[in-house]
Amino acid sequence: MLSELPEFIKSSAFLNFKTEISDEIAENLADLVRFLLSENKKYNLTGIKDENDAAFLNVVDSLALADIIGPSASVADVGSGAGFPALPLALTRPDINVCALDSTAKKTAFIESAGRLMKLSNIRTKCGRAELLSACGSDMFGAFDYVTARAVASASVLCEISTGFLKVGGKMLLMKGPDVDDELLGADACVLPLGLELSGVRFYTIRNGTSLFKRSVAVFTKIKTAKPDYPRRYSLIKSKPLFGR
Ligand code: SAM
Repeated sequence: MLSELPEFIKSSAFLNFKTEISDEIAENLADLVRFLLSENKKYNLTGIKDENDAAFLNVVDSLALADIIGPSASVADVGSGAGFPALPLALTRPDINVCALDSTAKKTAFIESAGRLMKLSNIRTKCGRAELLSACGSDMFGAFDYVTARAVASASVLCEISTGFLKVGGKMLLMKGPDVDDELLGADACVLPLGLELSGVRFYTIRNGTSLFKRSVAVFTKIKTAKPDYPRRYSLIKSKPLFGR
């Protein structure tokens, strides 16, 4: 029988979730939560202190992408922080390869340690800024089938700093809240210079006990190489976003 935390993770899975969470995976995800909270006391990796909150807000929410990512895909998780959604994705989808990247070394070091603890061979990390690592000439340029990002920056900023990671035909999956429309205002026309097309928004619902929470994934498709003027300098990317309100 599962103990409380893994059972909570299984029962809090979002509605209509198709990827199987076996008892073993639920145990591993619970171990990840415990490891995160114990390391957090030393390194301040997350503001969340409670086990169930960390399981729900980090692990369960991250699993939303497990149903969307295609088989055997390569994934760049931009601004992975303490490994979300990268670590839960690598755990539940052994067929995919995930590169978790973040500009903060203590966070990529934590992801490395967690990957070793979980005996994951399908996750690696890269410490650096996305807009530099994705630039033409970098070995990460055009190398990935998917870009994922959660709680990192606006959709406009993420599209500009991350489009370089994608192969043509690849997808960018941006995890957002229920009110994603404002962020996407004008995106249809404005993402074209980045070689992207807005493919749509997928809504999903996660459950914590009897409470339901609506979330969204904005999906962009790489249709061609970006114009050479992109990405611009980071100060411009932030101060003059291409789209959104
Ligand atoms: N994705 C994680 C999550 O959902 O828990 C972490 C979110 S945390 C609020 C945002 C992270 O993005 C931080 O760890 C920060 O260092 C990283 N970050 C922000 N801008 C970045 C950039 N341009 N390149 C790489 N990492 C970046």
